[in-house]
Amino acid sequence: MSKPSKLGVFFFTLWLVSGLLAAPLLAADEVNIYSARKEDLIKPLLDDFSKQTGITVNLVTGKEETLLQRLQSEGANTPADLLLTTDAGRLAAARQAGVLQAVTSESLTQHIPAAYRDPEGYWFGLSVRARPILYAKDRVKPTELSTYEDLAAPKWRGKVCVRSSDSIYNQSLVAGMIAHHGEAKTEAWAKGLVANFSRPPKGGDRDQIKAVAAGECDITLANTYYLGGMLSSSDEAEREAAAKVAVFWPDAQTTGVHVNVSGAGVTAHARHRDHAVKLLEFLASDQAQRWYAETNNEYPVNPAIPPSATLQSWGTFKVDTLNVAKLGELNAAAVQLMDRAGWK
Ligand code: FE
Repeated sequence: MSKPSKLGVFFFTLWLVSGLLAAPLLAADEVNIYSARKEDLIKPLLDDFSKQTGITVNLVTGKEETLLQRLQSEGANTPADLLLTTDAGRLAAARQAGVLQAVTSESLTQHIPAAYRDPEGYWFGLSVRARPILYAKDRVKPTELSTYEDLAAPKWRGKVCVRSSDSIYNQSLVAGMIAHHGEAKTEAWAKGLVANFSRPPKGGDRDQIKAVAAGECDITLANTYYLGGMLSSSDEAEREAAAKVAVFWPDAQTTGVHVNVSGAGVTAHARHRDHAVKLLEFLASDQAQRWYAETNNEYPVNPAIPPSATLQSWGTFKVDTLNVAKLGELNAAAVQLMDRAGWK
């Protein structure tokens, strides 16, 4: 039998000592997330966070409504420390439901512009998504386009397809219009838009882009990362469809392009509050923001980080400066208005 090498003994001792030290630490050093983001759009970042801090991240992924209901019914017994969602409307609803708590952090206020976070620190935007007009390159000239308002004009009769009014993205867009133009004007607009639909609303944002490419309609509204994702898709049909569609940045002379955020807030009963804040700070940091920008074609919330090459290729645009918290405040009004306008 050969004698164990000095190096072997050294590493064995190291393993033993680090194991003994790490085990009790890891058990307490954890943070629990309820997340409505797809796991692959967040997991690699959480792994980096764990590597850097030694804090274990436990991720529960689910639908926005389900997670909010779960937080409400669990009350003070919830294991969740952080709620992650993909729309300011959802974040505002969570605050209203009383499941979040206020956080003050210099690092967060430094990295996240005021328009992208709750004024009182109940939630923080972590990535920005824009919802511009997308059009068929071969049938629409960009000079024919101008504003969201103009999509209700009779010249677009039978040419618009948009997903349903169940979509929080459309609800937030309408909430933004209410904030800018008031309810009466927005309702008249929504009626005009519905009159221009080429088909009853169905499918998600990607399906609208495919419908434009297939000639079912000429114009749609979609979040930019869907088009970005389709352009780099492993599915050839998606790539071909995306190539037939271009981005138009509306309202350049007026209120700017509607934007929204994915974001997160610390839960009201968080048991690992400090770790949850630390994780929020990590997600707003340059390193994590760079990853958001490159991986999901979202705009970094942190202005120090440039958007991906794909996003840059679509040019710059005027951003609607409305605080995204307004989108949540006006959500109920928007939903009722879309219903009255017959937006299915
Ligand atoms: Fe989405």
